[in-house]
Amino acid sequence: MRIDLHTHTWRCRHATGTVAEYVLAARVAGLDVIGLTDHAPLPPGLDPEACYAMPAEEFETHLAEMADAADAARAPGDPKVLVGIEADWLPGHPGHVEGLLSRDDFDVVLGSVHMLDGWAFDDPDLLDSWESRSVEAVWREYFSAVADAAASGMYDVIAHPDLVKKFGHRPAEEPVALYEDVATELARTGVAIEVSSAGLRKPVGEIYPGPSLLRTLCRAGVPATTSSDAHRPHEVGIGLDEVRVALAAAGYDRVVYFEGRERREVPL
Ligand code: ZN
Ligand code: FE
Ligand code: FE
Ligand code: ZN
Repeated sequence: MRIDLHTHTWRCRHATGTVAEYVLAARVAGLDVIGLTDHAPLPPGLDPEACYAMPAEEFETHLAEMADAADAARAPGDPKVLVGIEADWLPGHPGHVEGLLSRDDFDVVLGSVHMLDGWAFDDPDLLDSWESRSVEAVWREYFSAVADAAASGMYDVIAHPDLVKKFGHRPAEEPVALYEDVATELARTGVAIEVSSAGLRKPVGEIYPGPSLLRTLCRAGVPATTSSDAHRPHEVGIGLDEVRVALAAAGYDRVVYFEGRERREVPL
């Protein structure tokens, strides 16, 4: 099955394309499943330039648009359209994400660590902040936040599980102990991870997660899904072949997707 579980629309203000254009792109790309997972509204103050996520006042409209698109795509040969959301892990804002998710509209909820203590470490405009920090310490904080996000019970999938490498900042040695710890925690909580082609289009030039982490996750029994993290309709399904090869190389022979927040497992 060809699954792209992670895509964005114009709603978040840093992607382009409407819900309808993404569904059309999924059909053209021959996908079986597309997840519409735009960035959930952030608490006031965390998105000063209003370009990280959809505005809170558009949340309901966006949910209705996704539901309509899912209803409309029911003909034979249509991709299955999943109503989803990518929600930040925000331990400094207890209740915010829980509030957004406390409804049964969603097929799938992606959990993402894009911020550590309010610092959006993946924002190219904030790259300077890396210079005053220890890469080892940032990586430790990042993976500990991923483990906390998984343990929160709010998410079905951890998105781009090693996003911290986006710009190529890496510890001198591959932190295998961190990988083991996060894999153990993910396996314990039953949360899946995505294998995403987005990293191929970023300075790091590598799939999220990298081969060593992905092998560790597979050995630990952590379920995996596939995604592009498309921010333009023409990116839907992009890099899925590379992603599937990476999964197979790491030892995976099955992948998962979600409907009504229930996990479905299918052969890779
Ligand atoms: Zn985005
Ligand atoms: Fe993300
Ligand atoms: Fe995303
Ligand atoms: Zn993303």
